[in-house]
Amino acid sequence: MSVTKRTATNVLLDTALKNFYGAVEEMRLDDNLIAILGNSERKLEVSVPVEMDDGSIQVFKGYRVQHSSAIGPSKGGIRFHPDVDADECEALAMLMTWKCSLAGIPYGGGKGGISCDPLTLSMKEKERMSRAYAARIAPIVGTWQDVPAPDVNTGGQEMVWFMDTISKLHGRVEPGIFTGKPISYWGSKGRTAATGYGVATCGLELLKAVGKDPKGVKVSVQGFGNVGSYTALTMANAGAKVVAISDVTGTYHSAKGIDIKKAFEHIESHPKKLLEGFSCDGCEKIEEIFSVDADLFFPCALEGAVNEKTAGKVKAKWIVEGANGPVTPEGDAILDQKGVIVVPDFLANSGGVIGSYFEWAQNLAGYFWTEEEYNERLMHIMKGNFKLVWDYAQSKKIKMRRAAFMAAIQRVADVVKLRGVFL
Ligand code: GLU
Repeated sequence: MSVTKRTATNVLLDTALKNFYGAVEEMRLDDNLIAILGNSERKLEVSVPVEMDDGSIQVFKGYRVQHSSAIGPSKGGIRFHPDVDADECEALAMLMTWKCSLAGIPYGGGKGGISCDPLTLSMKEKERMSRAYAARIAPIVGTWQDVPAPDVNTGGQEMVWFMDTISKLHGRVEPGIFTGKPISYWGSKGRTAATGYGVATCGLELLKAVGKDPKGVKVSVQGFGNVGSYTALTMANAGAKVVAISDVTGTYHSAKGIDIKKAFEHIESHPKKLLEGFSCDGCEKIEEIFSVDADLFFPCALEGAVNEKTAGKVKAKWIVEGANGPVTPEGDAILDQKGVIVVPDFLANSGGVIGSYFEWAQNLAGYFWTEEEYNERLMHIMKGNFKLVWDYAQSKKIKMRRAAFMAAIQRVADVVKLRGVFL
């Protein structure tokens, strides 16, 4: 490969680039295609002025990166977090390109966010911030341009503020620009649980592939937001024993198995939707989740969680990545030595964006499906994609992550080649 390889100081971007270059080298992809796909099409940085409740003005930094629109409109979430910056958004946008490609849905990849601590903002401040951000990115988003969705610390409410702002700017209803909207306002039944449901489905397919019955399999789940909570619930419903869950307030462990429905009720009644103060039969609060005695571990919190410091502690034999980029390359190498099988993020958590595609398609048609139709189609796609990557990895004797990257990159590269280079 004679292309100059990009490197980055940001851990997530560095990971995204290393995984990309590793895969294209093995695929012997054409240098021109490597050069095109190793860069983002567009990176936007905006200032987001917000009038705070005390009357002062605070200016936040916002971003939207479009890595690729080769296959279709860029697609990917918007997160509110103090660590959001241009590099993080670019890494996550690249990952979205591969995620949508592997999923077989007609999108490219994008990602955005605002660097802020949403836990310190009031509802009104969050609303003003969301609306100001939507207005700033309005010129580059659109139903056939770039379709954002929820991500870390954003959900249905934020999507409504975004959509409402842009609909008012355009003077017409614009349901297809944002997905992950509430059911009452152009959303679709099934979308809220879709990511976690899909992550757990990959966990169950993995157990099937290694010949294990989910009943009694010990599971730990890091993160109890939208992804982790529905992953834990689906695994518990399948008969697995969820022995540990965690969020920013700590790790909650019970060797007897945690009542996940009770944990749901707890976060529902907590003002910030946290596990703080949660208790259950045999529950104890412990230091961290990695060394918990579990067979199957779902990292569903943030990127970089399983790294050179934490990977050695992992007792699980199998990992299914619910978060985006939760395992660093150093973490991967340690897990590999221990023989841990890892189902990669952009396969495992693609249920969210596949669900977004369903919502977008329903918005375009102005016709909504039943929840059963939604879930049935989602499961069909998730199971098919798991099998595709599992079989490819087995036949080539490579890791699932490498197999997923190769399959995903190939589809985008083929379309870039087909369309030719103009822009
Ligand atoms: N934020 C989710 C993800 O990382 C969903 C993106 C979407 O639906 O566009 O996959």
